[in-house]
Amino acid sequence: MTYDTNNIFAKILRGEIPCVKVYEDEDTLAFMDVMPQAPGHLLVIPKTGSRNLLDADPQVLAKTITVVQRLAVAARAAFDADGVYVAQFNEPAAGQTVFHLHFHIVPRKEGEQTKPHSGAMADGELLKAHAEKIKAALA
Ligand code: AMP
Repeated sequence: MTYDTNNIFAKILRGEIPCVKVYEDEDTLAFMDVMPQAPGHLLVIPKTGSRNLLDADPQVLAKTITVVQRLAVAARAAFDADGVYVAQFNEPAAGQTVFHLHFHIVPRKEGEQTKPHSGAMADGELLKAHAEKIKAALA
């Protein structure tokens, strides 16, 4: 199990493909999931490459989960959510499709179903509007 430097999130980190950015610091990047399971679905990734949690450096993990917490709080406020689903998959058998460690943050409303994982692409302008809402809640 090796880290492939050409995975799509590594390309986002290198600026080779675009993303709808929500937050960035020295160690971490957060951006909107292009196939959101609910409005406000975003992803948090460390800038250091690892396939997933299983091969991640614990110090990198500690920094990443701290940002996950901040963004989960902001996403809950931004979308007036009743709860927040945080998910992270390791290897294909567990549902992982992109092999750079990432945490999903999905605001949830009581009684509302989520869309399927890796389902339909969202409108880019809508994703930008949702990113702005989360950024405003972070400030
Ligand atoms: P998984 O590896 O199963 O945890 O899921 C990868 C997630 O990345 C899915 O929710 C996809 O919708 C999302 N995704 C795939 N490509 C991109 C991209 N270029 N920008 C943002 N999100 C993406």
